[in-house]
Amino acid sequence: LTTRQQEFVRHWYETLAQSESFPILSNETLSALATLTQAHPQLLIGYINKEYPSISSNTPFSHIPLRTGLDKQSPQPRDTTIPISTALSAANAHLLPATLALVEKHIATCRRPRPQTDGRRSVNTGAYRCTFGCNYATCRRFDWRRHEETHEPQEIWLCTLCAHTPTDHAFIVSRKDKFLKHAKEVHGRGWKPEEVLDLSRVDFRPRSELACGECGSLSRTWEERCRHVVGHFE
Ligand SMILES: [Zn+2]
Ligand SMILES: [Zn+2]
Ligand SMILES: [Zn+2]
Repeated sequence: LTTRQQEFVRHWYETLAQSESFPILSNETLSALATLTQAHPQLLIGYINKEYPSISSNTPFSHIPLRTGLDKQSPQPRDTTIPISTALSAANAHLLPATLALVEKHIATCRRPRPQTDGRRSVNTGAYRCTFGCNYATCRRFDWRRHEETHEPQEIWLCTLCAHTPTDHAFIVSRKDKFLKHAKEVHGRGWKPEEVLDLSRVDFRPRSELACGECGSLSRTWEERCRHVVGHFE
């Protein structure tokens, strides 16, 4: 396990496991821990047995549901009109299946076409226009890029503290400011927001081949793509 994963297990042990009189590492808990730390359950169980022998794990590893069939078990109202890029899934195959499923769902939500009035602003004017067709416009380049990233996420955080509950309640976002707000509001009593942020960062690899929404020219990186598109507006 990496230092960060060990750190997380320690936090989990100190905040949750110790409060129970007979702490048991249940399938559910182990599965959740694995999702949160993105560590293999077998590694986790070995580590916990060694470092925290007071926690009994009465569950042989082979019986642990890995939640690989997340979507099969509970048919989600998923957006079927937008196929999730298989390239994206392949690039992120290093993530745990449960994490990947959440990431895919998040990306699909980001790509879903939005109403023309999106942005919820009375003044949608400016040279920098949304290239994903939602009618957002702004006169500030920074705001434009941040808006574009709501459609094409570059970073993803999956709250490690919320995902103890069923994955339906997972808190997953692509904006650091939104995550920090969540961390402060929901977990601020025991945690520093930056600490939760660090523990929750998903090792996500965004798409690399990107077409310009205006002229279709291809860019290799998001940085390059944004610089190119901005050229159409300035
Ligand atoms: Zn937009
Ligand atoms: Zn949370
Ligand atoms: Zn272009």
